[in-house]
Amino acid sequence: MAKQTNRLKRLIDLIDRAYPDGLVGQYYADPDGDHGDSLARFIANDIRETFAFSGSWEEQLDAAIDRIARANAEIGGVLLELQTERDRFAPEARTDGQTYLRCLKCGQYVIEGEIQAHMSREDHK
Ligand SMILES: [Zn+2]
Repeated sequence: MAKQTNRLKRLIDLIDRAYPDGLVGQYYADPDGDHGDSLARFIANDIRETFAFSGSWEEQLDAAIDRIARANAEIGGVLLELQTERDRFAPEARTDGQTYLRCLKCGQYVIEGEIQAHMSREDHK
């Protein structure tokens, strides 16, 4: 058991070297502390909670890779959605005080308040 606990610590140390400011290590040592970084908290807790004490070092690495890769993909999806929405805004050159969004179907800029009606047009379904 001591060997496995050392392996969890080794895994955390490895992750901590890659993460800024030693925050994953701080959350591992003090899970309820307020270290000001919810992503570091998530990583430390997730790795601790899912660590398979019965596995080999290779299996433990694979499991950690799987967990972090999944989180990375989910964050990537959120980022893409935000960037897609941000990219819809019309250039600043529009000075009539309205906010325009680019239609994702036809590319036309439409007044924000009219985008729902525009998107439900017959040729956009
Ligand atoms: Zn359109």
